Amino acid sequence: MSTVLVTGGSGFIAGHCILQLLDAGHEVRTTVRNLAREPEVRAALKAGGAEPGARLSFFAADLTSDKGWTEAAKGCDYALHVASPFPPGVPKDENELIVPARDGALRLLRAARDAGVKRVVLTSSFAAIGYGHGVRKKPFDETDWTDLDGDDITPYTKSKTIAERAAWDFIAREGNGLELAVVNPVGVLGPVLGPDYSTSIQIVKGLMDGAMPGSPKLGFGLVDVRDVADLHLRAMTDPAANGERFLAISGDFVWMRDVARLLKERMGKAAGKVPTRQLPNWLVFIAALRMPEVKLLLPELGKEKHATGEKAMRVLGWSPRSWEQSAVDTAESLARLDG
Ligand code: NAP
Repeated sequence: MSTVLVTGGSGFIAGHCILQLLDAGHEVRTTVRNLAREPEVRAALKAGGAEPGARLSFFAADLTSDKGWTEAAKGCDYALHVASPFPPGVPKDENELIVPARDGALRLLRAARDAGVKRVVLTSSFAAIGYGHGVRKKPFDETDWTDLDGDDITPYTKSKTIAERAAWDFIAREGNGLELAVVNPVGVLGPVLGPDYSTSIQIVKGLMDGAMPGSPKLGFGLVDVRDVADLHLRAMTDPAANGERFLAISGDFVWMRDVARLLKERMGKAAGKVPTRQLPNWLVFIAALRMPEVKLLLPELGKEKHATGEKAMRVLGWSPRSWEQSAVDTAESLARLDG
């Protein structure tokens, strides 16, 4: 069994990666910005069924500082670099996202190389693949890169694209044998482990809360967090994953209205507030004035972007559950959290 570093242990995807690594028998180290969060992270993992005790250790490290990364990486066989800012709104200064995403990835890669880590798996995003291309029929795949000169670029898509490019450049120029594999998830749903869940959970949370009187004409790819974690583990050890990117999507593009209809159908009384009608675009623009998470999605209104996870299935034997199952499991976990 190996020792694996997972960065950003307080995060949604990182938490599920830690659960699966522990389940597979690995020793896990994780970084948090502040060690005071250790009890909270352990409680979240316990909610996910794990009580790892000494098999899990915590290190303090911030993406914006050199401190702590060397100690965290020392003695590790692999590292999953999951941490990166993913806020609900748009920051005033795009560098609030770009700098930690890019420089944090480089800090982790440098520390991993110097510690003799065999392979790093970087959590990138569909944000580094499918933006800046306008509307197109051809499904996006791993050969596509976001065009930062396009008109739908947000600070977040920019941060993920720049960070992933910087990681590949680092490996090519100064990796010194360190291996890199990249996972590019679309919108991630699935069971939340605690109240500090990811921005992407708002897709289901907002519908369940009836935050809007209808569904905006928005669509996206969806994938379950447990399948994203599983793909990280496959990309960590499979020889065929070295030097490759893997788009993580379950099925294809889904309209938000379809998610709303599914929740209404499957969640019974708990879905009482879920709206099923389609909101006209002008109303969404007005809602965006009050809701930063809606503003972030405005450039996507009405756009249909197809993508495929065929490569991960073919090369790594990945087999994701349906987006429908994932959306229902998300809603059920939120309902449990609310008691
Ligand atoms: P999340 O729950 O918000 O996790 C983000 C993690 O990054 C948190 O642990 C956070 O720590 C950490 N982080 C942010 N800024 C940091 C900094 N300056 N220094 C150290 N740690 C920092 O979101 P998530 O969905 O799990 O996202 C994890 C990764 O997946 C990110 O790279 C994101 O871009 C990527 N991704 C997510 C989705 C999605 O739909 N969820 C889709 C594609 C890609 P704190 O708890 O201290 O803030």
